[in-house]
Amino acid sequence: MTIEITASALARVGDVTVRRALPRRQRRTIGAWCFADHMGPVEATPTHGLDVGPHPHCGLQTVTWLTQGEVLHHDSLGSVQLIAPGQLNLMTAGRGVSHSEEATGSYAGPVEGIQLWMAQPEATRNGDPAFEHHGELPVFGLPGGNATVLVGTLAGVESPARIDSPMVGAELVFDSPSTLPVDPTFEHGLIVLDGAVVVDGESLTPGHLGYLEPGREELLLEPEGSVRVMVLGGVPFPEPLVMWWNYVARTRAEATAAHRAWLADDGRFGTVESTLERVIVDLPPWA
Ligand code: MN
Repeated sequence: MTIEITASALARVGDVTVRRALPRRQRRTIGAWCFADHMGPVEATPTHGLDVGPHPHCGLQTVTWLTQGEVLHHDSLGSVQLIAPGQLNLMTAGRGVSHSEEATGSYAGPVEGIQLWMAQPEATRNGDPAFEHHGELPVFGLPGGNATVLVGTLAGVESPARIDSPMVGAELVFDSPSTLPVDPTFEHGLIVLDGAVVVDGESLTPGHLGYLEPGREELLLEPEGSVRVMVLGGVPFPEPLVMWWNYVARTRAEATAAHRAWLADDGRFGTVESTLERVIVDLPPWA
């Protein structure tokens, strides 16, 4: 078993350049993780930031994790939540929710982070939307640094955040070789946000996804200097997904129905209090 390294795709979200590590043609999911955008850095002012206007989601949970700066989250549940580095915004879409990511009115400076989606399993994907903010998360020490557990359990340390299937998400910031015990039923992905880390003899840097198949009892990570790396893992997702735009569905017809509901503004995705415009794209090509 050796690490598989895939280059991320460059994309634009609002005014921000992102490095999209998931999904790629070669690698659609890692456990329930189905989307991973390393965004920024972008220079924010009090009135301009990520500036992602109201847009819909269904069938997934979104994780917003910042490494620099501040962002203001608004959603159709009425949540208005400032987020800063070390804090977790976790939005559960279920049958439908909408949200925006905005400037804070006060923060000026660089904004950088990662936006992740977790596919919801059949049992919860048509359920109620929800939003959680975790201002403090469990942290444990690593040689020359520490690990923050965003979701799930790593090295026996458990996050309080909601998950709907067996998985883990953590941020490691450290500068010395570390061996992490992991669940051998999980596959894992590594996304470096800053610096470089050697795994299985390969150097992993920003703009790439490192994939590790199930069966490992531990991960040996050897930083080259100081590194900031996300560890994403989970049991390989058992349900086939159809992902189109901001929807995670099971069929094209479901995705089309979701998008018709958004275009019609029929209430399924609620309303976001926002000064930004609703994001509108055309129907999918098959519709
Ligand atoms: Mn979103």
